Amino acid sequence: MKNPILQDLLTLSHELGREDRGLAMLGEGNTSARLGDDTYLVKASGTCLGTLKEDDLVECRLSAVLPLLEKDSLTDQQIDGALLAARVDPKAKKPSVEAVFHAWLLSLPGIKFVGHTHPTTVNQILCSPRAQELAERRMFPDEIVCCGVASVFIPLTDPGLKLAQVIRRETKAYVKKHQQQPRVILIQNHGIITLGGTWQSVLAAMLMAEKAAKVFVGAAQLGGPIFLSEETVARIAGRPDEAYRQRALKM
Ligand SMILES: [Zn+2]
Repeated sequence: MKNPILQDLLTLSHELGREDRGLAMLGEGNTSARLGDDTYLVKASGTCLGTLKEDDLVECRLSAVLPLLEKDSLTDQQIDGALLAARVDPKAKKPSVEAVFHAWLLSLPGIKFVGHTHPTTVNQILCSPRAQELAERRMFPDEIVCCGVASVFIPLTDPGLKLAQVIRRETKAYVKKHQQQPRVILIQNHGIITLGGTWQSVLAAMLMAEKAAKVFVGAAQLGGPIFLSEETVARIAGRPDEAYRQRALKM
């Protein structure tokens, strides 16, 4: 019997990697899950989400990865060396270069799973002059239920350690402003991260964000989108029936 967290992470990875969904192709994207007090599982570099197997996941120590965030600058070789040294099993594959932001997000209260992909429609907007609007505004109620009142917006940043540091800075600012953890982080000219307490909530936020992007692109062709007002977003987020739907969806 596989560890249930490992099984859930494989299920999440296969769902995110499904070819028909257009979220990730070839080696794109990565996933992770909190395992123990000091350990987490993260996708190995160069593996494919849709066909991910048990030995494509690497168990790493948070206490070895999180201190990297405090470094001003490290060479790619130094980061590779530190990530290899963070593995619990020295025979395991090499962790993804994005293992640093996964470690930090999994250290947030209540966050047990993290998914990262490069969805076609989300990226159409993130590669356009309107990227920030997709993060900061909301268009319809289910987008608020699955993706939160807003998404964290990360301006164009090099992948790796720098990206992890900017994600930490912008996510802290989001928590301070909204008094809740984000469900969605959008990275300009790159892709999306979704996070949550269950693998179902990570998948739901991902699929709903891609749907919202499709709605955005379609509405833009018709002169929109017309966004919901801040008051409407706050009212929907606070409704008891929306909270009930979130629980029913394992959000
Ligand atoms: Zn990426």
